[in-house]
Amino acid sequence: MSDAQVSLFTRIINREIPADIVYEDDQCIVINDIAPQAPVHMLVIPRKPLAMLVDAGPEDKMVMGHLLLVAGEVARMRGVDEAFRLVINNGAGAGQTVFHLHLHVLGNTQFDETNLATF
Ligand code: AMP
Repeated sequence: MSDAQVSLFTRIINREIPADIVYEDDQCIVINDIAPQAPVHMLVIPRKPLAMLVDAGPEDKMVMGHLLLVAGEVARMRGVDEAFRLVINNGAGAGQTVFHLHLHVLGNTQFDETNLATF
């Protein structure tokens, strides 16, 4: 893989770019979003550099489930487990800007029809 193809999040995982790391294990890393859209806004990122959700296959079942469990765990760690949302943007048309699969964990905010439309 050429340098140009290495995603921003792989560079963060490899500690080539600094980030505010909340949690990590052998399968994923969780960072605080650099431009938070909610009081708590974390990104759960698999180490495996799947570009988009649709690039995941049957062989990724375990890691995909793991990402959900970790999302719940970090929500609990940050005290927002009573009210948080998970968002995955798949494709540029859906607003995806970093092409390395990630789950947005958005918590501790008022979810109404206005901001449901935003994210
Ligand atoms: P998406 O638009 O779904 O691809 O989400 C990409 C997210 O990555 C956005 O919410 C950005 O604010 C966030 N982001 C971009 N660069 C960084 C960075 N260096 N550290 C943390 N979050 C970032």
